[in-house]
Amino acid sequence: MNPGAGRGPAHPGTGRSMDENLKDYSPIALRRRLTREGLPGYRADQIAGWLYGRGVEDPRAMTDLDRDLRAQLAARFRTRALDLEHLSRASDGTVKGVLRAGDGALIEAVLIPEEERVTLCISTQVGCPLACSFCATGSMGFTRNLRTAEIVDQLCRMREILPEGRRITNVVFMGMGEPLLNLPRVVEAIRILLHPKAFGLAPRRVTVSTVGIAPKIPELLEQVPVNLAVSLHAATDEVRDRLVPINRRFPLAELFATLRRLPTVSQRHPVFFEYTLIEGVNDAPEDARNLARLLRGIPSKVNLIPMNPHQDSPLRPPGPEVAGRFMGELVRGGITTTLRRSRGSDIDAACGQLAVRGRRPPLDQAGGATRR
Ligand code: SAH
Repeated sequence: MNPGAGRGPAHPGTGRSMDENLKDYSPIALRRRLTREGLPGYRADQIAGWLYGRGVEDPRAMTDLDRDLRAQLAARFRTRALDLEHLSRASDGTVKGVLRAGDGALIEAVLIPEEERVTLCISTQVGCPLACSFCATGSMGFTRNLRTAEIVDQLCRMREILPEGRRITNVVFMGMGEPLLNLPRVVEAIRILLHPKAFGLAPRRVTVSTVGIAPKIPELLEQVPVNLAVSLHAATDEVRDRLVPINRRFPLAELFATLRRLPTVSQRHPVFFEYTLIEGVNDAPEDARNLARLLRGIPSKVNLIPMNPHQDSPLRPPGPEVAGRFMGELVRGGITTTLRRSRGSDIDAACGQLAVRGRRPPLDQAGGATRR
């Protein structure tokens, strides 16, 4: 069910493996799973209400299920996939959580409270195989995919630290890893985010960011109607090949042919493009003009992110004047553009700084999760 997930210890007293986690299943999948187990499938929505709606993880406390089912669930399934290992709070209110999985792997999630909304940025892999030249996660290498329970438990753990009366209103898949390389688990997690008895988020409050694994993009959007963000960073293959090595496999022509064919993209639901501005690499006025030309005819919004510097890369952001000029050039080219205010950089929580510094899982358990 979850290739790559570590085997859990046997359930004490029964000898039965407790690898199964209730949070690996969307309510619809749980209904099927319970039915197969000879358990009452129609209870799945109630269980989702307890796990996600009320944050109750002990099946024995799910008081509107009959006693027998509660005991069965407690004996057969885990319900928790992550523990909070460490929290850092930035001066701007951003909170980074380091979370520990059952096999000792560490991942990060970043909570970004604003006036109207609370956004959680979540991870989909331990590390990342794509090695983009400006990204700290890329430089730590790839350990494994997260399972669905580990993706949704990032919400369960991080919401516990929110002040009374605040809740997570938006989720962005912009943490560690490439979501489209872990698609089935990501889709199942999104179903849990959207299900009214679970987190009940509107689809447009969920954004999946991809480096541009072209064939997987329609596969994602056919299954869940979320926002799509594409990490572009360059408007020519020559520059993009250097920044985003996977561009050699899915070059711009193929990526944009795919994007243009998406039936879900419209002026109301544009594609978001992230463009990390890097000094002397992709920040010239000519780069902006190329970008405007590339995006012509496709409903789009560009999010410019001055690169957040980190210890694994010599690359740097341009100054504010260069960034402003770049933005002006795009706007003149008719492209809706925002310049992202970076949040959380004093705690290494900003885009591209997620790499689990300083705290290592025991190596024998983590399979070399941290290589720094
Ligand atoms: N793999 C997915 C999800 C990660 S999202 C993707 O590439 O979209 C993280 C976003 O932060 C991506 O747009 C990524 O390109 C950007 N990013 C990575 N390193 C960065 C850095 N050092 N400064 C600013 N943005 C960075």
